[in-house]
Amino acid sequence: MNDDALRERLRARIREILVRNAKIESDLRRERTPLEGDWDENAILLENDQVLEALDADNRAHVAQLRAALGRLDDGTYGRCMRCDGKIAPARLEAMPEVTVCIGCARDAEAAQRTRR
Ligand SMILES: [Zn+2]
Repeated sequence: MNDDALRERLRARIREILVRNAKIESDLRRERTPLEGDWDENAILLENDQVLEALDADNRAHVAQLRAALGRLDDGTYGRCMRCDGKIAPARLEAMPEVTVCIGCARDAEAAQRTRR
């Protein structure tokens, strides 16, 4: 995939997530379901809110990663591993265009995390 196609793909992904987040945020503001049920219903809604907030935060983090990937495309460091400076496999980038480390470093980091637990 050339850089322009990749940029377009990253931007489309960002737009898609922002649309989804706008919906989540409007749900959180109760534009559709005002909080006026009984206590049990409110408890369920509040629990649901926590799930939505976590999702919202995940989505924001994902958008930040996608924007960072666009930045790396601009400065020519896209596709390079941030840990070992090696090349990230095209198939890996294809599946996750926002990744910043090669598969080897990702496995190392995972293994390190496992032994720390
Ligand atoms: Zn690496």
